[in-house]
Amino acid sequence: MAVAVYPGSFDPVTLGHMDIIERTAKMMDRVIIGVLKNNSKTPLFSVEERVKMLESITAHLSNVEVQSFDGLLVDFVHQKHADVIVRGLRAITDFEYELQMAQTNRVIAPDVDTIFLTTNLKYSYLSSSIVKEIAYYRGDIGEFLHPEVAEQVRRKLNASVQPDAG
Ligand code: ADP
Repeated sequence: MAVAVYPGSFDPVTLGHMDIIERTAKMMDRVIIGVLKNNSKTPLFSVEERVKMLESITAHLSNVEVQSFDGLLVDFVHQKHADVIVRGLRAITDFEYELQMAQTNRVIAPDVDTIFLTTNLKYSYLSSSIVKEIAYYRGDIGEFLHPEVAEQVRRKLNASVQPDAG
């Protein structure tokens, strides 16, 4: 049975992430989405909120589950008895960092491989941080997020800082 871990911050999950999740779910027997707890920056959503949103929008995918983790990714992969790590590659700018990560992980855990899925061109420009910036300035984020997630982002931003009136 092939089990994949798809790790990330997912702050918030975008349609680009969803595309990778759906494609991985078709290829693997089981997919565990690993939501990273130890962000260096303060996230917009708590890890519990991110897990809940992911669970809700992947509910139709019976072989996908969502869990949070902290510490080393390879430790999480071992703990889950997974075979591979899945990462998305958007552009050449992702490549250097992703290659470094994959190679480092392979040194510390030679039994764990990383596989890369290239993005759907439709979402190749998309990142959680760009979406947050657009939302912060009250731009339309409906094109980039699942409607449920878009609503959560709007609510969160309404409850927090308002952009400068001046
Ligand atoms: P991280 O904090 O590890 O960068 P992200 O939540 O930003 O995590 O992304 C998790 C994974 O999803 C990474 O492999 C990233 O390259 C991939 N990803 C992010 N945005 C997209 C997108 N628009 N299309 C496809 N893959 C994406």
